[in-house]
Amino acid sequence: KEKTNFQILSPPNTRDLVDSVDAFLFDCDGVIWKGDALIDGVPETLEALRSMGKKLVFVTNNSTKSRRQYAKKFNSLGISVTEDEIFSSSFAAAMYLKVNSFPIDKKVYVIGEEGIYEEMKLAGFDCFGGPEDGKKSVLFGSNSLFDHDKSVGAVVVGLDRCINYYKLQYGNLCIRENPGCLFIATNRDPVGHLTALQEWPGAGCMVAAVCGATQRDPILVGKPSTFMMDFLLQKYNIPTSRMCMVGDRLDTDILFGQNAGCRTLLVLSGVTNMETLKDPSNCIWPEYYTSSVSDIMSLSDD
Ligand code: PLP
Ligand code: CA
Repeated sequence: KEKTNFQILSPPNTRDLVDSVDAFLFDCDGVIWKGDALIDGVPETLEALRSMGKKLVFVTNNSTKSRRQYAKKFNSLGISVTEDEIFSSSFAAAMYLKVNSFPIDKKVYVIGEEGIYEEMKLAGFDCFGGPEDGKKSVLFGSNSLFDHDKSVGAVVVGLDRCINYYKLQYGNLCIRENPGCLFIATNRDPVGHLTALQEWPGAGCMVAAVCGATQRDPILVGKPSTFMMDFLLQKYNIPTSRMCMVGDRLDTDILFGQNAGCRTLLVLSGVTNMETLKDPSNCIWPEYYTSSVSDIMSLSDD
């Protein structure tokens, strides 16, 4: 891709952006919050955009929570958001199976947390693994085979803070012994801000473990894949040229917006700083950048 002329958000181009956009797609971590800490000025900015009639959508790659759990988190931070405005990678995994008519008599094995598990159940799928298998271990040295359920038709992998060898072998056998078994990754973020002060191994690390064992590539449903975008476009009848993706990561958020033809705004309140943005080896650039979401309001008031 050609290096685009990314610009700092200024009062005139902020007003132009706000006027020419009907929906804002917000990434969550690094934009709305950092771990559990709300980023300054976010509730006020979101309220102001809502009062101007803008649609707000929240797109997160973090699969540990379901949409219901995210709505609770937003509301506890003083931001009123409904479940149907949230597109989490956990929800995307369930919708991928639904859209692709996953047979209801097949089961889903989860290497992941409550979020994926809950979304699978809500979508009517028979799933197991995940939190249930957090304390299981493998017996070696016996003559018995490690057994697995042959009716598993999909293995879904996301961040799993209780990942263990049992789950890896279960997922491995399901995928390798049934060539038709789907291997779905909620996201491949290498690290995530599980806490505000540090980065922790992300779902990409669990996905890589399963790739390593199975030698298969997963179907990615989170950002930057277009699956969530296609799904939300069916719900909102807005052309992508009138949508703006606001995110803190170039290779997930900005690429996700760009791939769909959305306007893009990078905020420096998360994982990307000016140094990374200007690094000659970087090949993804947003249309605009600014320090944080609250600039959208303060600059358009200037
Ligand atoms: N995955 C995990 C485990 C995370 O902790 C995070 C951020 O904290 C993410 C993914 C990225 O989430 P988002 O897409 O909201 O930035
Ligand atoms: Ca982010």
